[in-house]
Amino acid sequence: MKAVRLEAVGSIALREVDRPIIGPDDLLLRIEACGVCGTDRHLFHGEFPCTPPVTPGHEFSGIVEAMGASVSGFAIGDRVTGDPNIACGRCAHCHAGRVNLCSNLRAIGIHRDGGFAEYLALPWKQAFLLPTDLKPTHGAFCEPLGCCLHGIDLAQIRPGSTVAVLGGGVIGLLTVQLARLAGATTIILSTRQASRRALAEELGATATIDPGTANFIDAVTGPSGLAPGGVDVVLECAGVRETVEQSMRLARAGGTVVIIGVTPQGLKAEFEPFDLLFRELKVLGSFLNPFTHRRAAELIASGAIEIDRLISRQVTLEDAAAVIANPPAPGEVKVLVVPSPR
Ligand code: NAP
Ligand code: ZN
Repeated sequence: MKAVRLEAVGSIALREVDRPIIGPDDLLLRIEACGVCGTDRHLFHGEFPCTPPVTPGHEFSGIVEAMGASVSGFAIGDRVTGDPNIACGRCAHCHAGRVNLCSNLRAIGIHRDGGFAEYLALPWKQAFLLPTDLKPTHGAFCEPLGCCLHGIDLAQIRPGSTVAVLGGGVIGLLTVQLARLAGATTIILSTRQASRRALAEELGATATIDPGTANFIDAVTGPSGLAPGGVDVVLECAGVRETVEQSMRLARAGGTVVIIGVTPQGLKAEFEPFDLLFRELKVLGSFLNPFTHRRAAELIASGAIEIDRLISRQVTLEDAAAVIANPPAPGEVKVLVVPSPR
């Protein structure tokens, strides 16, 4: 079969490899779509630890073509999405229900072969059913949506909440939609690119703002700003120093900041501890998708999340290596790799 192989840092290419051999607990998935994520580019540049050679791709869905003897609850021909993050189930964090903090966490597409290939071996406990009439490309969004759901859960958005989302990439645009579904009535998205601001307004943002606006903080929190006094919840979805620092200043007294964006390791940001204390801010990290993949799959199946408008382009396996090795094109939100375009 064809698979995109990360052979070493800076070296990625399409190769002919053997089809995965499934064990008793595995499904053999024919990949329908796999999303390119910033993490794939970080792997290529050696900015995220992994052990090449490996096939990247952790945002995948596909059709069950074969299954091991111990699998139950699935049938040949089922459409499924896979949660790529495999917790050991045995460490202290797993036993505390914090599977995303598992001491032995292994991810499909990082530590073992992933979805930029024609086939993938998926442990059945990581698989979740999708409707057979769902668009084949939509299943690839379950993983990023699951990560956003964890952030939304931590934020405890309630009907009437005021929310700011910083960063209008796919994570920010999914988070805007989830904030709307959670009942927020003011949803402000900050991102630099005008096309993304326009898209966010169509997806449920009640206001958008360019972070380059003069007196940006005041334009949001000032007396005649978009959310006078600040917002109940800030969801940081850009992963840069500027947005992390803005987060603490956009939250109202008693508000909550959820950091979803991944800043480069070692990056430092400034905040005033006095401000945290005096205004009792709650600052939370949101890492991965603990127990949210099923809900993400159900949400996508329900059609409640707009997906098509987030897909900037679809490429074949032949073009995938070049997409991963290069920075995203301006305006691009999500590129999907589709092994057999239909
Ligand atoms: P992305 O496409 O890079 O989106 C981030 C966007 O933030 C950028 O495209 C950029 O859009 C915007 N941005 C940059 N600087 C900004 C600024 N100063 N103010 C406002 N917006 C700014 O990436 P993504 O796929 O959406 O992911 C977003 C972040 O979440 C990444 O750091 C990713 O690693 C992380 N992530 C975390 C998890 C988790 O489990 N916590 C899971 C998946 C991804 P403009 O050019 O329009 O400004
Ligand atoms: Zn564990």
